[in-house]
Amino acid sequence: LQRLRQRLARSQGGLGQGLLALLSRDRLDEDTWEDIEDTLLTADVGVAPTQELVGRLRTRLRVEGGDTDARQVLREELVALVDPEMDRRLQVTGTDGRPGVVLVVGVNGAGKTTTVGKIGRILVAEDHRAVMGAADTFRAAAVEQLATWGERVGVDVVRGPEGSDPASVAFEAVKHGLEAGVDTVLVDTAGRLQNKQGLMDELGKVKRVVEKLAPVTEVLLVLDATTGQNGMVQARVFREAVDVTGIVLTKLDGSAKGGIVVAVQRELGVPVKLVGLGEGPDDLAPFDAEAFVDALLG
Ligand code: GDP
Repeated sequence: LQRLRQRLARSQGGLGQGLLALLSRDRLDEDTWEDIEDTLLTADVGVAPTQELVGRLRTRLRVEGGDTDARQVLREELVALVDPEMDRRLQVTGTDGRPGVVLVVGVNGAGKTTTVGKIGRILVAEDHRAVMGAADTFRAAAVEQLATWGERVGVDVVRGPEGSDPASVAFEAVKHGLEAGVDTVLVDTAGRLQNKQGLMDELGKVKRVVEKLAPVTEVLLVLDATTGQNGMVQARVFREAVDVTGIVLTKLDGSAKGGIVVAVQRELGVPVKLVGLGEGPDDLAPFDAEAFVDALLG
C-alpha cells in the first residue's frame, strides 16, 4: 500500500504542490484565485466542484484570518470534496449460500480485463473463492488475456466459443461458480460503446440471465483516468444504461488528473471504490479519500 501511495503521490503531486504554492503567496488576490481555479480545472476537478472549493477556501481563509494553516484548510476541504462518507466497500459475496456476481463494465481499453484479474488477485489474497467469466466475446484477445490472468492469480476462467453470446458465457460462469461453491463470480463484459439503448439491451440481458442463478452484488464501471472529460461522457451513457454501484478509476499512475475522482463521483453519484495504479497484479487499491488527499499534498 505504501508503494501504491508513493506512486500516486508522484503522479498527483503536481496538483497538490501547485495549490499549496499558490495559497502560500503573500497576498491572495484575484489573480491568485484565478490561478487556483485554473490549476483545479486542469486536473479535471470539473467546473462546479472547482467553484465550490474555491468559494469555501476564500471564505475560510478570510474568516479564519492570517494565522490559518492554509495546508490544513486545503486538506480538510479537499477531503470534504472527495466525500469520505460514501460506502466504498465491495460487496463480493451473495446470499443463501450463492455467490455474489460482480459485473465489470466499461469501454474497450479502459482496463476492464486487467481489473477483473486484479480483483481476482485481491479475492484470493482474502481467502475468497472466485471464478471469472470471459463474457467480452467480441474481442478474441480479451478472452485470452483473461485466461492468462486466471492462471496468474489462480482463479478458474469460464469461456465460451469465439463470438458466443456474452449473456450465455456469463450464465455458464455463474453456473460453474454455483457448482464449485465459490463466493464470487467476476464477469468481464463486452465494451463496445454503442448507443444507450444497445448498451442497455446487452448489459440488461447479461444481468437478467445471471440473476436467474445468483444475485448481482456489484456493477463496477471501469473508467480510464487519462481520458478526462471524454471519459465522463461515456460514464454517463453507462450510468443510464445500467445500475452502476461503484467506479474503478484506472491508470491513475499515468495521469496527473486525479481531480477526475471528484468530477466523476459528483456527476454519477456513485463512489470510486478502487483505483488502478499500474499494469501488474497488485496494482489495484481500495480508494481512500484521506489517503488520496494526503498523496496529493505530498
Ligand atoms: P479492456 O479493453 O477494458 O479490457 O482493457 P484492458 O484490461 O485490456 O487494458 C487496456 C490497457 O490498459 C492494457 O495495456 C493494460 O495493461 C492497461 N491498464 C489497465 N489498468 C491500468 C492501470 O491502472 N495503470 C496502467 N498504467 N495501465 C493499465
